[in-house]
Amino acid sequence: MSDLPLRAQMAVALGRTAAKMSRLAGRGDGSVIGGRIGLKLDPELLTRLARDRKLVLVSATNGKTTTTRLITSAMTPLGQIATNAFGANMPTGHVSALAAAPDAKYGVLECDEKYVPLVLRETGANVVALMNLSRDQMDRAAEIWLLAGKWRKALEAAPHSHVIANCDDPLVTWGASTAKSVTWVAAGQHWREDSWSCPECGGPLDREGVDWGCRECSFSRPKPDWILHGERVTAPGGRTYELTGLQLPGRANRSNAVIALAVVSQFGVEPETALPLLAQVKSVAGRYTTVEHEGRTIRLLLSKNPAGWLEAFDVLQPAPGPVALSINAQGPDGRDTSWLWDVDYRILRGRPVWATGERRLDLAARLEAADVDFTLVDDIDQAVMAVPPGHLDVIANYTAFQHIRTRYGRVV
Ligand SMILES: [Zn+2]
Repeated sequence: MSDLPLRAQMAVALGRTAAKMSRLAGRGDGSVIGGRIGLKLDPELLTRLARDRKLVLVSATNGKTTTTRLITSAMTPLGQIATNAFGANMPTGHVSALAAAPDAKYGVLECDEKYVPLVLRETGANVVALMNLSRDQMDRAAEIWLLAGKWRKALEAAPHSHVIANCDDPLVTWGASTAKSVTWVAAGQHWREDSWSCPECGGPLDREGVDWGCRECSFSRPKPDWILHGERVTAPGGRTYELTGLQLPGRANRSNAVIALAVVSQFGVEPETALPLLAQVKSVAGRYTTVEHEGRTIRLLLSKNPAGWLEAFDVLQPAPGPVALSINAQGPDGRDTSWLWDVDYRILRGRPVWATGERRLDLAARLEAADVDFTLVDDIDQAVMAVPPGHLDVIANYTAFQHIRTRYGRVV
């Protein structure tokens, strides 16, 4: 830190003070405000803070917070790691994360998909991990195609950055394929509704098993270096490892874990060392956390978009385990709830289901159309008290999730 120019040192110090005051005032962890003030005083602060460090950027529509956490955990043998653990995934958050760990030689930064070009340009990150792209509450299919196009330009201009990309996602593959060096990871693709046409030419994509290719041009699935199959992963040399020790549940987290293994092996951390460290991660920013309340064990699952709902369904307790769903439509959730119609809720048939949240009526209309029996309740408490003591899975979108998490005790 002491080799930063004076102006940058001041920017960091003032940013820290602002973050601290923001925390004292009870306004979150302060990383956004701290970073914002720092960048205002020194617009090149991110570049300066990134200098002389080995950085990883992690981006995707889903799983980036979890994967950032997994990579950070697996890199601990290398020493101190700077990371934006609380999901502040824009440059302001990156500045705060790096400023908070001035002596860390390594950094793992979750990056909003739209900021990948800017953050890559400013930090010259050594490794960029790209996992999946799908429509969400804000972006529809055409927008994610434009986004992948921006990744292509950014990676083409960053020949020193190595890319780790999920070759089971055609759009990610296209977005990554201008990079000078890529490790392809067959990490699986659960949600396919956004990849029926070729991002290169618009022709139809044919699929056969895990393989895919365009019928009209040469764009097709690259040969993977790492392969996830079920609960096992095959590394580039052909050795196979079990992922059964992971505490984070479901297919999506196995996919996040194999991406993490591929990333850390770039820094010389082999799977034998990395796997036990991945297995230590139990919950990430409240996701998958269970809380006890009045004899109920409530497990919190966050789903922000259609692909996220599939991931949550994948980890539900076996039927007929009860499920509560909570949907809000505040700023971070997107005001428009029409994406509810992209999710196939029929999988919930035969379970006791409670619907709540500010937009419970939208949810009710959707569940009714899917022939799912449900009970409409005013708040999550009513759902919790209505289920018999035992396990309850709660799936909620962003602000609904935060509300429930606060309601039952903010657990990390
Ligand atoms: Zn094509």
